[in-house]
Amino acid sequence: MNRDLYGKLVFELSHTGRRAIKIDSNNCPEATPISASLMRNKPLNLPELDEPSIVRHYHNISTNNFGVDTGFYPLGSCTMKYNPRINEEIAGHPEFSGLHPYQPENTVQGALEMYYTLQCALSEIGGMSEFTLNPFAGAHGELTGLMIIRAYHDSRNDKKRTKVIVPDSAHGTNPASAAVAGLKVVEVKSRPDGTVDVDDLRPLLDDTVAAVMMTNPNTLGIFERNIPEIARLAHEAGALMYYDGANLNPMLGISRPGDMGFDVMHINLHKTFSTPHGGGGPGAGPVGVRKGLEKFLPDPRVIRNDDGSFSLTGCKDSLGAVSATLGNYTVLLRALSYILSLGQNGLMEAGALATLNANYVKECLRSSYMLPIDTVCKHEFVFDGLKDKTSGVTTLDVAKRLLDYGYHAPTIYFPLLFHESLMIEPTETESLDTLNEFIDVMQRIAEEAITDPDTVKSAPHNTPVGRPDDTAAALNPIVTYAQLIGNE
Ligand SMILES: *Cc1c(COP(=O)(O)O)cnc(C)c1O
Repeated sequence: MNRDLYGKLVFELSHTGRRAIKIDSNNCPEATPISASLMRNKPLNLPELDEPSIVRHYHNISTNNFGVDTGFYPLGSCTMKYNPRINEEIAGHPEFSGLHPYQPENTVQGALEMYYTLQCALSEIGGMSEFTLNPFAGAHGELTGLMIIRAYHDSRNDKKRTKVIVPDSAHGTNPASAAVAGLKVVEVKSRPDGTVDVDDLRPLLDDTVAAVMMTNPNTLGIFERNIPEIARLAHEAGALMYYDGANLNPMLGISRPGDMGFDVMHINLHKTFSTPHGGGGPGAGPVGVRKGLEKFLPDPRVIRNDDGSFSLTGCKDSLGAVSATLGNYTVLLRALSYILSLGQNGLMEAGALATLNANYVKECLRSSYMLPIDTVCKHEFVFDGLKDKTSGVTTLDVAKRLLDYGYHAPTIYFPLLFHESLMIEPTETESLDTLNEFIDVMQRIAEEAITDPDTVKSAPHNTPVGRPDDTAAALNPIVTYAQLIGNE
């Protein structure tokens, strides 16, 4: 491994005695000596550097990352939209950031009001009765939602319901959350048009099914038109409908999961409501329930009292706590800031523009890339690799070549329904110029695949890391400095 490509560690840049600042002696008398038992045996190993080297070191590290702030990030399924700076300003406000989670209620009324206001806004957007904002991520929301569904069936002494029906196009977190919630996953097939096959679903529904978990639009970016019928069939069988709201962006202000017949849902605030994410950063996966299921929501809940004040409460039927206090509070703040700054009309425009942008990119590229499902999409769409496959250039190669042109790669090899899946989600925040530049580059790569396939197959050519061995990295990860320099 060429270590120079990664830059040096701050310890490797260190020179004994080098200083960024000098502190003059202040002629104070020496403090009473500290007891020898409290002293270190050997001096603390700290890097010693001049100030410009420190600044350059950390600045260079900070620019090694790719984010929405550095370039276009068409990562399907992730809704990597621009995070307006007003969100950051509000989240950093000392009146919020300086609070302690266990302060007495009467000293955090504003913070509780923020929570309550966002809870009401999400209930309105989702068509639900009440939301909890406590879960930390989409997957955590799914788990919380499924626990609510279990609590509901248990409260009716309906103990046979141990299965969750999940479409084959579902995001991997759906079956994973169901398994963690102690439920068995049953897969329902999709039809060639990408939507759930109702005929395949019908015989799966019986009194052992706790829930049908659906994403709408689904992970192919296609609107599931049969939800009302699916909801009717599920409810007739005594099951509840769970809505994975990670794809809510194109639905904003246009249709509501509650109106479609869903009983429980989560929303990824860090996708639809613009708060930054990626790289495992903080998220929030609020969970909403329809009327009648509120009492199962996790503790604590925030309520508004008759006198207009706000309190934290619990409920004896609650499934208990799913997180410390009130979730990722500053992520919640960013989401409310986004909702209030866009307002009702702005939110409705966001969903429509996300849909327009995705269809524009799809239509401009369909001459070069294979479009397995030819229909109007919502916020994202999936190609099945290049149209001309004679050169042997794969989806992985196209994704790697995009890095050379300064773009983040789309999602690749997901969903699993096609061999060469390449999933693009532009979001509403990109300008027509950005979309056109991306389209040009995608077309150029398709041409290169024919005229100069080796350049595409060996890409990327100008990133610090090119084509790591994914299998070796998973089997034998290098996670410490000692391992990296071969000094384990
Ligand atoms: C992102 C996503 C999830 C998981 O959300 P996390 O916040 O990453 O846990 C679930 N379902 C779909 C469809 C998603 O796109």
